Amino acid sequence: MRVRFAPSPTGALHVGGARAALYNWLLAHGPGEEGDDTPGTFVLRIEDTDRERSTEENVAQILDALEWLGLQWDEGPISQLGNTPRHQQALQQLLDDGFAYHCNANADDVKAYKEKHGAERGFRGEPDADGAVRLHVPDEGRTSFEDAIRGETSFPNASMDDPVIARADGSVLYNFAVAIDDLDAKITHVVRGEDHLSNTPKQLLVFEALGETPPKYAHLPLLHGPDGKKLSKRHGAASVQELRDAGYLPEAVNNYIALLGTGFAADEEFFTMAQMAELFRLERVSKSPAVFDEQKLRHMNGRYLRELSLDELTERLEKFTGKSGLRGAVEISREKIQTLADFWPLAGFLVDGPVDDPKAFQKVIGAEGGVQTLTAAREALAATDPFTVENIEASLRELVESSGLKPGQVFQPVRVAIAGTTISPGIFESVALLGKDRTLSLVDDALIKAV
Ligand code: GLU
Repeated sequence: MRVRFAPSPTGALHVGGARAALYNWLLAHGPGEEGDDTPGTFVLRIEDTDRERSTEENVAQILDALEWLGLQWDEGPISQLGNTPRHQQALQQLLDDGFAYHCNANADDVKAYKEKHGAERGFRGEPDADGAVRLHVPDEGRTSFEDAIRGETSFPNASMDDPVIARADGSVLYNFAVAIDDLDAKITHVVRGEDHLSNTPKQLLVFEALGETPPKYAHLPLLHGPDGKKLSKRHGAASVQELRDAGYLPEAVNNYIALLGTGFAADEEFFTMAQMAELFRLERVSKSPAVFDEQKLRHMNGRYLRELSLDELTERLEKFTGKSGLRGAVEISREKIQTLADFWPLAGFLVDGPVDDPKAFQKVIGAEGGVQTLTAAREALAATDPFTVENIEASLRELVESSGLKPGQVFQPVRVAIAGTTISPGIFESVALLGKDRTLSLVDDALIKAV
């Protein structure tokens, strides 16, 4: 099986593109089709013929996103633009063989043609000596193929316009370049988004005109958000870069995307890439749109985070935050975070000191009895020895008992004193991690601030 991912580098790699890349990667690493013994190969082609939008930064961004996901390609990246001489040669061949013709018809001519022959009738041009190049579409019959996901898919030739395959200046167009490049790369399966479905008959006609066997095609249904609308930024992180910045792990992203409408498991099961490659079948991909729900990804990501060893998670968090010495803070936070980005707002104070949250301070320590309780808590903590999680908990609970206050009324002022705000990992664990000296000095700071 030889498959490819062929992004146009016009911006970030979107979730839909990542899905196409992943499914191709899984196919290349899977068992292959029965009777097909070509080794699995994943080809990366950069469709960089749009010179204005295909910047080097955009290409780098896509390669970076694929690498982050671990979707390593076996061949490429092939530059589509680099294949220009071959495109020209194939174009000339079609002109010479009478499968294509120059034609000066413009949009108005096409419109006039439709008015005369009916909107359903595909445009047929008059050959000229120069002008753009159009491919002849037969008037009879249908252009059909067996889509691995959608089944038999067929377009009546009579209603297809003769497609423009090269501009008057000789530069070739997308549908032509793609067919030639897939042919030359010996692609056996084209797996791409459903937005390309209407391009497929044009590409098939190019193969036919060249007398070549086309690859098999599979068109992935669109991705929707949980509200049933086409997936977009409104639904949250929409590109791989945004997912990375939002603190998702690449393995969780791959796992979640692999399960979207592919029918091999419920949407929360864990799989390694190798297992997914083993199980993935194009034929089982659902025909209806798949729903990308970031909340489900968050949930799965949280489970992935908790599966990592403490060392591994610490390493990833240190890389993500750019901070070091996080191990202790990670240990007491790991049950409470779902993404790498959740960590710092929860536990950053353990490393960088309390945050500034005047509202929380006022509400908890500035409230009636706040200073008094914090003073009593300071005494209890000062007397705690050794300063372990268990002893800290016992001391503070004793204070709850003796004061007749609610647990929260005792714990919350301590929390705000050490964290500056009302969120933190477990209070006893946090206090123990900071140590007695540091905790008492933070409590003192808070008491001074309160009077
Ligand atoms: N370059 C096209 C795109 O990014 C994909 C072409 C294809 O997969 O055939 O939408």
